[in-house]
Amino acid sequence: MNEFCPELWAEDPTPESQIDCQCCGLYQQGSRMIWGEGNPHAPILIVLDNPGAREYKEGNSMVCGTRQTLQQAIHEAGLCQKQIYITYILKRRPVRKYDKEQVRSICIRHLEEQLTSQKPELVVCLGNVAVQSFFTDPEVDVKGLRGSWHDVRGYQTTAAYHPLAVRRRPNLLELLKEDINFVSNKLDTIK
Ligand code: SF4
Repeated sequence: MNEFCPELWAEDPTPESQIDCQCCGLYQQGSRMIWGEGNPHAPILIVLDNPGAREYKEGNSMVCGTRQTLQQAIHEAGLCQKQIYITYILKRRPVRKYDKEQVRSICIRHLEEQLTSQKPELVVCLGNVAVQSFFTDPEVDVKGLRGSWHDVRGYQTTAAYHPLAVRRRPNLLELLKEDINFVSNKLDTIK
């Protein structure tokens, strides 16, 4: 296997029709919309809670630690950028307090549109926020769902730890790698 080196993945531009979305009010916090990154036609769609920092203060692009950790797990599972699309429950990064339940329930319509147009084979929710929003169930969590497939919104869906949690608790790295391997193995069976 080639040595892992984090890289900037191609950002999927926000559609013109959505770029000025003000549906939930989070636009007032000033962060730009991030529609997703990777390959929009990929068989695997990964869902995170919201985008993190993507640019340094001067405006140059960066790959934050969270994305580096996720890319590492993807690389070690033998997957690549063209097989994956990464997107979010919230398309804007919150920078202050906000009404989490309300904003998530509104913004998820963008993800629903993406699913309808992209039709991925597999969906992977990272972290409890993404899991609970996607499953529309506040009682479920990564621990209880990882390592198995669930029919959610018509998609084969699984769960894995959030890469930020992995960075805070490095003992979770092996579990994240296991989970991404689990996804890679499933993809092999449906190719
Ligand atoms: S967070 Fe989502 S719903 Fe709210 S303004 Fe941004 S794109 Fe629209």
